Amino acid sequence: MKEIILGKSVKGVNILGYAFGDINCFNKTLILGCIHGVEPQSKDICDFYIQESRDKEFPDDCYLLLISCINPDGLFAKTRGNANGVDLNRNFPSSNWCSTPVSGNIMYHPGSNAGSEPETKIIIDLLNKYNFKKVIAIHTNHFIQFPNPPMINYDGEQSRELAEKLSSATGLMVHSDVGYPTPGSLGIWIGKDLKKISITVELDDAKDSDELYKKHGRLFEVAILWSINLIIRILFSTLKALHI
Ligand SMILES: [Zn+2]
Repeated sequence: MKEIILGKSVKGVNILGYAFGDINCFNKTLILGCIHGVEPQSKDICDFYIQESRDKEFPDDCYLLLISCINPDGLFAKTRGNANGVDLNRNFPSSNWCSTPVSGNIMYHPGSNAGSEPETKIIIDLLNKYNFKKVIAIHTNHFIQFPNPPMINYDGEQSRELAEKLSSATGLMVHSDVGYPTPGSLGIWIGKDLKKISITVELDDAKDSDELYKKHGRLFEVAILWSINLIIRILFSTLKALHI
């Protein structure tokens, strides 16, 4: 495992990536935690995986870049957004990015333009530089604000099979729709626009990190290893998108 400084947050905090395996292989996975600073368990379970895996042999022909905390300023301040008050998960350059927050709610401030924030730019640059096949974002859901059960949410039909595998491994239900509009979200940009495999995991924020890792920690291994028919699926979804 290699620790890499990927960039800095608005307040100048290093954003770290943990890299496992061979970057030149086909089966590359990006996993992110703590896009929202108020979801600390999403960072903790990534850190548990790093602790458990750092000295173990990593599977052949797989590469993982794990960013356990993409929003360190939000985590420190206990805010959903970053230090500029921007909801990073509304700041990605998806085709439906919108300059006004959904429902006029400042909690979803999408930034001055798509990709305006240094934390978002790190992810955009990584996707431009390396051909990640799968992106998994880990969140926790706040039942009062978002009346959804914990779930595996996916964007794009090409993502459905991995979502189902992750559901079997974790016991979380699969949903293709998170239940509310998410313009500028990472999931829409990756799954609907870039046509890559895009999974958003919503864990139960009422539970402790230890319990969440024990119950759902297998998601890492399943996501990293999954590659069956990946080429065919990506080709198929591209052809479908081009109406060929
Ligand atoms: Zn979240």
